[in-house]
Amino acid sequence: MSVWSHRHVLDLAAFSRADFAIVMELAHRFRSMPVTGARKLPALQGRLVATLFFEPSTRTRSSFELAAKRLSADVQSFSPSSSSLNKGESLLDTARTYVAMGADVLVIRHRCTDVPAQLAAELDEAGERTVVLNGGDGQHSHPSQGLLDLYTIANYFHRNHPQPNALQGKRIVIVGDVLHSRVARSNLWALSACGADVVLCGPPSLVPEAFSTFLEAPPPGQDLDPVHQRGKVQISRSLDECLSSADAVMTLRLQKERMTNHLLTDLDRYHRDYGLTHERLLRCSFSGPVLHPGPVNRGVEMSGALLDDRSICLVEDQVRNGIPIRMALLYLMAASEPVAESSRISASS
Ligand code: ASP
Repeated sequence: MSVWSHRHVLDLAAFSRADFAIVMELAHRFRSMPVTGARKLPALQGRLVATLFFEPSTRTRSSFELAAKRLSADVQSFSPSSSSLNKGESLLDTARTYVAMGADVLVIRHRCTDVPAQLAAELDEAGERTVVLNGGDGQHSHPSQGLLDLYTIANYFHRNHPQPNALQGKRIVIVGDVLHSRVARSNLWALSACGADVVLCGPPSLVPEAFSTFLEAPPPGQDLDPVHQRGKVQISRSLDECLSSADAVMTLRLQKERMTNHLLTDLDRYHRDYGLTHERLLRCSFSGPVLHPGPVNRGVEMSGALLDDRSICLVEDQVRNGIPIRMALLYLMAASEPVAESSRISASS
């Protein structure tokens, strides 16, 4: 097995195909272990995981906290509304407080791009051992969501062994508000690294042409792309057209909180053009899975009936898979034992 080399996890652009394989393999092992209730894995005993969410979250935060607890870590969560931020403390000073308390991992979400990276750089410079896991920064990156989406799609195509190769040659459509979506960006890096072609679909206001070159330049701070041959990215304005040749489709929430002007005024029209329904899937002879990172606006990105149809819609699988994926990330970043050492990842009660 390859060696895990990431101190912090900030952006999936930095992941090689082997990195994706390591996370998926480990998550698959965690998923098959009975670690609910009182049964826990001792891997992170004595470690402290702090979740610092400066933006609202339902799934990501609770999923990280459950993942940490299932690995026996202590968990401390920070709420901006009841914190000293209200007394004028800076974000970095807040983070330093958790470092001083001995946090091994800081999971951080912020509405500004690059806050997790800045914090990681500052910790490195200060010689701290604390590592940073990006829980979502602005519209830039949401690595754990990209990983759980990748795992969920791979698991749909290869139930017994969800690995990057399961994505090779697949055609995945991402439809909706790509412009404001950190999930779309993380999925672009993850899916393309595993050999899938990605079609971005939506109106020009939400899917600008510039996205067609998104994968071409390595992101700032990275000289080389760690992936030899990525899948391609294409843009389409017609959902029907791209669905007819797609293997899977992911639809995205309209991120009104990040829209600076009124990009969309007619939600009925948006639903007609880009909403997913049973009728549309049937008309386009699409028989693959439907994903959504949540939270979903019923009747906008997809119909309520489709959202509730577990035979097609994998939203609940995504939520379920988020826990073992986050366990894998926390384990890789904070456990002192190597991955192959089995005693610390066998369940105790
Ligand atoms: N929950 C995802 C995120 O934090 C997607 C969304 O909010 O629409 O980016």
